[in-house]
Amino acid sequence: MISTKKIQMVDLKGQYEKIKAEVDAGMQEVINTTAFINGPQVKEFQASLEKYLNVKHVIPCANGTDALQIAMMALDLKPGDEVITASFTYVATAEVIGLLGLTPVLVDVYPDTFDINIEEIEKNITSKTKAIVPVHLFGQCADMERIMAVAKKHNLYVIEDVAQAIGADYTFKDGRKQKAGTIGTIGCTSFFPSKNLGCFGDGGAIYTNDSDLAQKLKMIAHHGQSVQYIHDVLGVNSRLDTLQAVVLNAKLKRLDEYAAARNKAADFYDKAFANHPKIKTPVRAKNSTHVFHQYTLQLNGVDRTKLREALAEKGIPAMIYYPIPLHMQKAYKSDRFKEGSFPVTEKLCANVLSLPMHTELDEETLSYITKTFLELI
Ligand SMILES: *Cc1c(COP(=O)(O)O)cnc(C)c1O
Repeated sequence: MISTKKIQMVDLKGQYEKIKAEVDAGMQEVINTTAFINGPQVKEFQASLEKYLNVKHVIPCANGTDALQIAMMALDLKPGDEVITASFTYVATAEVIGLLGLTPVLVDVYPDTFDINIEEIEKNITSKTKAIVPVHLFGQCADMERIMAVAKKHNLYVIEDVAQAIGADYTFKDGRKQKAGTIGTIGCTSFFPSKNLGCFGDGGAIYTNDSDLAQKLKMIAHHGQSVQYIHDVLGVNSRLDTLQAVVLNAKLKRLDEYAAARNKAADFYDKAFANHPKIKTPVRAKNSTHVFHQYTLQLNGVDRTKLREALAEKGIPAMIYYPIPLHMQKAYKSDRFKEGSFPVTEKLCANVLSLPMHTELDEETLSYITKTFLELI
């Protein structure tokens, strides 16, 4: 290896070094004031994120999974209601649907963009369908204009899972742009450390432009409380720690810069792998910018396990997001789906490989990764 630095999927330490002074001082201040819960830094972050996203309400919470659960609780979804989501996603999306006794109706994705297949959404709508949960997977938006049209036609809520795409811009046909997560009824995001806007532990947020709904979301996240010790609805305890807000305040200011760094790395990979018969590089969606939470290749005719081992020997990590489709997980077994139900998802799970993607990748590292990858494939 040419570089002495260990290559990682995500370099959180390198990113931290550049904001260390600000983060350390901010954390010390929280400790000094002991405002660990709902300190002023949480309010500051909420306001900054509302401004950045151009959305009326941001409700910070404890993690992205809670954000999704609170969203579904606030929409009064009831056991037996059907919620349509993508079969190719992280488990959290389907998990909360199941936890609330709702019925997850999985549908396949598009093979190019990995986003939820809108024709399949329409085919699966029944009288019990209440909501669609598009997942902006790997950092770009699902086709929200079309999804919103389907939702409007069938009177459905749309909960955007924007855990992987914070900061991505969606462009409507008329040229209007909106941030991912601010288009549907509610947007849900995660500040898990490795996410594009990551804190130093767990964190999440819920967005909406609907002020009544915002009240309800806030209430549910705080034990269903309207006024202290007055509980109007069943709620949960889901807060963003003040210490985490310090980190998020520092990183939010740099989020666009971070997205640019990720795009630069993605462009480098794209160029190196262009027109290779065994490699399909990520396809950019037409109406969305990409914030490259992951840089995910589709491999053709490659022994992925052997390739990963060979890469690991050369100090290059590579991950499979996601190895097993949701409908083939034991916890999500259902009469509705079986092996073969979602051919695109099943093929993707068998062929995808994600390469190191973060804000600290320099050209030396990228050329080492791409050169080695091309030698080993
Ligand atoms: C990370 C993630 C979540 C869950 O977020 P947590 O903060 O880990 O609970 C939900 N959906 C998707 C698509 C994710 O990537």
